[in-house]
Amino acid sequence: MLETFISSFLASKILKSISFSCDTGLHLTSTVDLSLNIRVPFCRFQCPFCLFINYPYNEALSDLYVRAVKQELKLYSAYIKESPIKNVYFSGGTPSLILNKLSDILNCIHELFGFRGNVAIEVNPLDLNNETLSKLVNIGITQISIGVQSFNSDVLKDLGRKYGGEVALNAVKKAMDSGFDYVNIDLMFPSPNQTTNSLLQDLEIAVGLGVHGISTYPLMLLPYTEMYRQLKDRIVEIEGMEKKMYMLILDYLMNVGYNVRSIWSFTVKPGFYNGPFEYDEYLGIGPYAWGVIDNAFTVNTPLFEDYIIMVKKKIPIVTLARFEGERSMIIWLSRSLYHGKASKTEFYKRFKIDLDKRFKWLIYLMCLSGLAEWRGDSLRLTRKGLLYGSLTTKNIVIGLLMKMHKATGYYPPL
Ligand code: SF4
Repeated sequence: MLETFISSFLASKILKSISFSCDTGLHLTSTVDLSLNIRVPFCRFQCPFCLFINYPYNEALSDLYVRAVKQELKLYSAYIKESPIKNVYFSGGTPSLILNKLSDILNCIHELFGFRGNVAIEVNPLDLNNETLSKLVNIGITQISIGVQSFNSDVLKDLGRKYGGEVALNAVKKAMDSGFDYVNIDLMFPSPNQTTNSLLQDLEIAVGLGVHGISTYPLMLLPYTEMYRQLKDRIVEIEGMEKKMYMLILDYLMNVGYNVRSIWSFTVKPGFYNGPFEYDEYLGIGPYAWGVIDNAFTVNTPLFEDYIIMVKKKIPIVTLARFEGERSMIIWLSRSLYHGKASKTEFYKRFKIDLDKRFKWLIYLMCLSGLAEWRGDSLRLTRKGLLYGSLTTKNIVIGLLMKMHKATGYYPPL
């Protein structure tokens, strides 16, 4: 099928454009609108599907972590003192585990950069109660993304989450009443015994609660995860549900008034919120944090102990992939289409060449197969294009993670 060919072609072209190198020199002075992605690598336990390296939380480790993050911010401030920081995003791991220490990091950002912008955080439903929510609001967090995954207790059990549907429901209800500008929830699909009915119920609950954003991520079973080992004989069967479930999500959410914010995110408040990796340019702060700056994708040293040592001497980036010339064009196209559309004007402004000339054949085939269409200035993904965009993005994410693990020499422990 033409659409499958285009999807594989794009994923492999993009992955080929990402080539990691140990030459980590960057020009940090030209940055205009910068955001910070601060990765907090602690979790209560390792979820069986998790693709990232996390550490069990303890007080002493978290003190070391906060000190090291402040040191890393200080190292960057020598280069980007004049750059306005637009957003700060605390990504996981589970940033809500270091709730009492977040203000220490935020004060440091205020002092070093004069920052007064948006602060977003990823939280676990287990960490949300009246007290913690008012703490988050009081320290200046304006946007919250809750890792619900499902409101169905059986689905949560299959995903190895340590809370039931009631806990997830109450966490979101309380968050909605706490005065955040934006409440986002994450849902996962397809989980091992999830049905389209239970997924639909999850969506209905989320919409009924009035959440501003819903991110729906496909399950990615990589060989180093515990869930892969548990389910390896059922992977084809489970992944077989993915297309059907994605279309259910898309059609249901569009029908009840949500807009496509990205291939995997839907919103009733467009323009209010970005996920941690969706800013144009951002610094990755913390162990195994990544960033995009100076036309490069940067990756920090993955291991906690290495990070603590390295940051005492220098910015802890251990590998980066540069996007120059041809590469930056295809990366720009894929990042734009991830948000559902690519603007001709913006492409021309950036690369001084016409989008429809540069990608003539690709765009022709995308339009021919019904994956995209021109609407005014923009090439937009159709309903079918969003579905294939989801499959393509999943392959890119998996390929990118494997490349990152290889480039840094570290795979999460089996
Ligand atoms: S899925 Fe989230 S909570 Fe679970 S181990 Fe990964 S980062 Fe931690």
